[in-house]
Amino acid sequence: DFITVPLQYREIPRSATKASIPAIGYGSGTKHQILKKSRPAEIRHTLHDDLVSDFYNAFKRGFRHIDTAEVYTTHEEVGEALKRVLDESEGKLKREDFFVTDKYSPGFEYKEHNITVPAATSGPYESINVALKELGLEYIDLYLIHSQFFQDRLTHGLSIEDAWLQIEKAFEEGKVRHIGVSNFDTAHLDRIRKVGKYGPQVLQIEYHAYLQNQSNGIIQYAKDHDILVEAYSPLAPLSRSPDGPLKDLLPELVAKYGKTDAQILLRWVYQQGIVVLTTTSNQDRLDDSLAIFGFELDQEDVEKIREVGASFNFRGFFGGFDQED
Ligand code: NDP
Repeated sequence: DFITVPLQYREIPRSATKASIPAIGYGSGTKHQILKKSRPAEIRHTLHDDLVSDFYNAFKRGFRHIDTAEVYTTHEEVGEALKRVLDESEGKLKREDFFVTDKYSPGFEYKEHNITVPAATSGPYESINVALKELGLEYIDLYLIHSQFFQDRLTHGLSIEDAWLQIEKAFEEGKVRHIGVSNFDTAHLDRIRKVGKYGPQVLQIEYHAYLQNQSNGIIQYAKDHDILVEAYSPLAPLSRSPDGPLKDLLPELVAKYGKTDAQILLRWVYQQGIVVLTTTSNQDRLDDSLAIFGFELDQEDVEKIREVGASFNFRGFFGGFDQED
């Protein structure tokens, strides 16, 4: 149940060329973050255990890749769930069997809630050291800059270039084994490729049928530069925008393949060579997500989803790209 797709590397002077990354990852952000914020104070102490149990279940069911971030505040729970599953396996599972992704937060502004969260540290290098402690790990498998939206007053003056060089330093020291960015457009990718010794290996973006380019030409750029794309919110057409035009096509495909609509959407992403990041607290949906490797969509259906999806636009995160485009 360890599913991998090859990572394409560009000038990485290590044995890393043989590495691979599990093609499906379990998200510890979004709904878990919302849970943290929304749980009433008197029962908030139950949250830690509930999150650990969600992540532990995901590992037990077969997920080997987990996605966290500084801003999610789920490091401790991810680390505890991982430790529990490793301890219980009595040596059958090892740390190397798991792939942990983490992200540096340059600070965020949630305008609709009037909340500003500045960067927690002086930069990624310090954030990585803090994260390793909170996760209880000796290394992180993949480390990303969470977004390209850097503002001096939130990053304490740190630029994107500075942040990238700090990540490369941690990479050279083996604290993080792969490096990349999230929510970057082509211009910002160019900026870090220019100063860096290594190219970003991974780009994590919102990707689903209703948002096939988070920013102009981003998918083609990733292909051209051997950057592996990871899709977050792959189920947006079901969970966030259920009234879009795919609602008429999906039932046909569900009947044709005998799979759930969620499986069809996840498989659609995976068949394009894109890593899928999804999350659920529902046991059946956990199993369904891991079962997407057992069937294949016909190419004509891949294209149909693409075309129908492209007739509609939905973006769940980082509307800031719209202002910049
Ligand atoms: P998904 O698109 O997979 O959505 C998951 C949500 O969909 C869950 O709330 C789940 O609820 C629900 N769901 C699952 N199956 C169905 C279904 N059949 N019908 C309707 N709803 C369904 O992913 P997310 O948007 O949650 O993102 C996944 C991960 O990606 C995050 O946890 C985070 O780690 C990462 N991410 C990264 C971002 C970044 O800026 N880099 C931004 C956003 C996410 P239920 O539990 O009830 O099944």
